[in-house]
Amino acid sequence: MTKVKFFSGENIPLEMHKVRIVQKLNLPPVEQRLVAIKQAGCNTFLLQNRDVFMDMLTDSGVNAMSDNQLAAMMVADDAYAGSETFNRLHAKLKEIFGMEFFLPAHQGRAAEHIIAKTFVKPGDVVAMNFHFTTTKAHITQCGGTVEELVSDEGINTQSSCLFKGNMDLDKLQSCIQRNKGHMAFLRLEAGTNLIGGQPFSLENCRVATKLAHDNGILTVLDASLLQDNLHFIKTREAACAHMSIREIARALADCFDIVYFSARKLGFARGGGICVRDKALNDRMMELVPMFEGFLTYGGMSVREMEAITVGLDETMDEDIISQGPQFIRFMTDELIKRGIPVVTPAGGLGCHLNAREFLPHLQGNQYPAGALAAAIYIAGGIRGMERGTLSEQREPDGTEPMAAMELVRLAMPRRVFTLSQVMYAVDRIEWLFKNRHLIGGLRWVEEPGTLRFFFGKLEADSDWQEQLAAAFRRDFGDSL
Ligand SMILES: *Cc1c(COP(=O)(O)O)cnc(C)c1O
Repeated sequence: MTKVKFFSGENIPLEMHKVRIVQKLNLPPVEQRLVAIKQAGCNTFLLQNRDVFMDMLTDSGVNAMSDNQLAAMMVADDAYAGSETFNRLHAKLKEIFGMEFFLPAHQGRAAEHIIAKTFVKPGDVVAMNFHFTTTKAHITQCGGTVEELVSDEGINTQSSCLFKGNMDLDKLQSCIQRNKGHMAFLRLEAGTNLIGGQPFSLENCRVATKLAHDNGILTVLDASLLQDNLHFIKTREAACAHMSIREIARALADCFDIVYFSARKLGFARGGGICVRDKALNDRMMELVPMFEGFLTYGGMSVREMEAITVGLDETMDEDIISQGPQFIRFMTDELIKRGIPVVTPAGGLGCHLNAREFLPHLQGNQYPAGALAAAIYIAGGIRGMERGTLSEQREPDGTEPMAAMELVRLAMPRRVFTLSQVMYAVDRIEWLFKNRHLIGGLRWVEEPGTLRFFFGKLEADSDWQEQLAAAFRRDFGDSL
């Protein structure tokens, strides 16, 4: 993908695959979109897929599969125990990460559940570059707290730093000093999700994990978004330019005691698991797998998905395949920048991230600008993004509501799913919205769940701004959808 240049000099990402199975899309008219978002409590998680034209909610479990993945699913070996399918998956993980043991789990958060239950005691601290929603929920459920030690540049929305996911090593040093004896583990998250799919460098990873090991602290890699991070190390870290994707993956894994992942992202299928370097650590977690997930040779996954993951992991080692996502995201980000729309820079993995605080400077934090913008984007284009701001945070135990470091709307780019013209449609509708941003108001809670409230909480507009926005769309676009 990176090797093809256009004669015109234009920077157009070129797919190194062709489409062989398609799904028809539906784009309801704006009046119907207005009804749908209201019924969904202004929460894009609660929209019905039939009402969505471009589903940019997540890349989780919705990446297009390859012909070879589908073919592999047909030869899956069905068995509760001792399936050959499991052996193939285990062997592939061992080949890539060089770790002896593998505990399967039905998805990423299930791996987090097992890790937190095993290693986090009340009062413990888990140090990490940045939290992920489900990770933090499991750690706090076990009585632990999370310390986020990402470099300051990590939460600077407009930056030229190529590795915004890097740990601040001074902060890590002082965290280790302060929490001697009760640090559960150090966790590094590849392709740091909540700060915009931003990578860390191999160099930073090596120093941070060495510091932990020198202090007897366990090291854990969340590899769910590893594929983007591998691409960025290969293309942005000069010292690694000569390395293959496989070599980079192995060099990263070599820094850790445990590597866990969501195969809804890593491996283009649906599942997850925990790779473990040594037997003693493996045995501490092992009993929880049959208790919460399933027997040790499937862990809640179907054999067909396990076959697809095995092939998907192998495909992840191919730069032509993993560069598609980041290049489409970069294209979309650049097009939005050309139109003066505030986005997180540099473009990361996972999706394109709009900066809702700058998009909607007239809104207060407690009007949930990112949530309001996500609802507005759906009304304007039938495009489903995800709020990644204050709504995605939890309240403190005393009920106070911390404002998120960043108010973002993530427009995820599921791999190999959208075409460039669809991306341009999204850019066009967002540009229209930006020109009409003064029409967008805030949100307030109607039903607020206690944990992971963003998944199923319900809100409403704090005025009739959504009706006004739909009416403006109708005026400007005539009878167009
Ligand atoms: C998605 C994700 C998880 C959780 O994985 P699920 O399969 O959705 O449970 C954990 N960590 C990161 C970084 C993720 O992106």
